[in-house]
Amino acid sequence: MNELVLKGIPAADGIAYGPAFILESQDFIVPKRAIAENEVASEIARFEEALAQTRREMQAIREKVNLELGGRHAGIFDAHLLVLDDPLLKDQVIKGIREEKQAAEYIFMKVIQSFVHTFSKIEDEYLRERTSDVNDIAKRVLKHLLDENKWHDLEHVDSDTALVAHDLSPSDAVGMYSPKIVAFVTDIGGRTSHTAIIAKSLGVPAVVGLKDATLRITNGDYLIVDGKKGLVIINPTPSTKELYSKEQSKIAASLGQLDDLRNLPAQTIDGKRALILSNLELASELPNLRKFGAEGVGLYRTEFLYMNRLDLPSEEEQYQAYKRVVEGIAPLPVTIRTLDLGGDKFISSVDIPKDMLPFLGMRAIRFCLEQPQMFKTQLRAILRASVHGRIQMMYPMISGVSELRQANAILAEVKAGLQRDHLAFDAKMKVGVMIEVPSAVMTADTLAKEADFFSIGTNDLIQYTLAVDRVNERTAHLYEPAHPAVLRMIQKSIDAAHGEGIHVGLCGEMASDPVLAFLLLGLGLDEFSMSPGSILTIKKMIRSVRFSDVMRVTQEAMGLSTGHEVEEFTGEQLRRLVPDL
Ligand code: PEP
Ligand code: MG
Repeated sequence: MNELVLKGIPAADGIAYGPAFILESQDFIVPKRAIAENEVASEIARFEEALAQTRREMQAIREKVNLELGGRHAGIFDAHLLVLDDPLLKDQVIKGIREEKQAAEYIFMKVIQSFVHTFSKIEDEYLRERTSDVNDIAKRVLKHLLDENKWHDLEHVDSDTALVAHDLSPSDAVGMYSPKIVAFVTDIGGRTSHTAIIAKSLGVPAVVGLKDATLRITNGDYLIVDGKKGLVIINPTPSTKELYSKEQSKIAASLGQLDDLRNLPAQTIDGKRALILSNLELASELPNLRKFGAEGVGLYRTEFLYMNRLDLPSEEEQYQAYKRVVEGIAPLPVTIRTLDLGGDKFISSVDIPKDMLPFLGMRAIRFCLEQPQMFKTQLRAILRASVHGRIQMMYPMISGVSELRQANAILAEVKAGLQRDHLAFDAKMKVGVMIEVPSAVMTADTLAKEADFFSIGTNDLIQYTLAVDRVNERTAHLYEPAHPAVLRMIQKSIDAAHGEGIHVGLCGEMASDPVLAFLLLGLGLDEFSMSPGSILTIKKMIRSVRFSDVMRVTQEAMGLSTGHEVEEFTGEQLRRLVPDL
């Protein structure tokens, strides 16, 4: 077998080896297959058996969940069982097989589609939301009706599996993750997609945007996944394997050297101090924050609490989750971001309109202002948790002062409610704004008067400034963090914040790239927030340079004309100043 190298977009650092496991697309293509008159009875029997198998499977899952998580969670499977036992569904499928003389899966799919259509038109919100139950159960029944080989059960994958998929949503990545999975490889996606971000949180190397990896890789192919260079090597030769195992030892050794920096401040040789904080998506990352010496949490992405479940997290559940995080890293501060749904993050419990351009549609703060009840529940939970440590809170995707005021008005209502209920909270909790939209940058001077701090979300700011979708692999080459327009946006935001005496952080992926972080330091950024694994490298960069040099280089870089020129020039200067970085 010949070695084949695929080049994609590096999404999460690290090197992994293992057999490939191709995850079939979640979308069903159910072929139309005519049957003969004498096959009708066996086709009906096959359908009934699929229903029975699915029922047994659901009952087993229900029992497992009941044992492990308790009855409340197990209850969500009752809705699935009800769909399975619906006589109307069964009768319509049997009638369809008899009359249309088509295979069971085809008729079943047609009936399910008409069910889903009817459900989506129902006025009652609760019933409307059950569409996802119908879809879920349909997939399970189809699994039994279609070719078994097309289906895989992730519970039974081998150890050290490299998961290959056309696409993987952030919730899929969290939901299906197990320690047996050592890498994620996808056809689509960009460097700052939330799936890439989640791969980093899970500590799993990932390469995305390979375009046709699912066609080139065969199940069981041995893969090397190089998450740093964005390479997937199919069936590598022994010499490539050896090269990579040496590379891995080298990485481990250099990480070991960085270990000494853990408790040292991020301070330049000439005394300019910055703060290095961690982003947090999953509670499982908490131990890593200490391990890598984070000085707090600069961005807690709370939406992951809402994923992979059919109901919404209650106020109490959220309060407990926030309390656990804030107590877990006390006395260091935690910046909780309010719910940022939409874009590439969806949840089953809320029907978010499927916008043509989801990143420009109903997303983040817009969605929360439209659903104040859900927003208030979260704000109450955050405020209640604020007495257990140092919490500050920020709103995502603020486009101008009016949205900030609307959100703050709701916050004031929630505070009044807590006072009425005699529940304690930190009345002085700082409330910041994420700067992710060009209109926020252009009005940053006004926003800075009403916000306690800024946090620049460059993952979004870049896509909105350059009009380049952050999850689209076809435009990934146009997604340029060092584009002069982006750097000027950042500069303007930092200057506006400092003009009003508030501090400014940056929590996009840009903060974890040494060359870009060097520029950010030169632009006067106070706080850098990133995935824990990048902290020591950025600390090392900051501790190895003089701020006077950083400012000089940044000033020159800001006079260059293209992103490419900026990166080349700054990279060269940084390598000259810190040869061993
Ligand atoms: C950002 O946009 O830079 C950010 C940190 O938020 P998210 O990646 O969750 O959109
Ligand atoms: Mg964002």
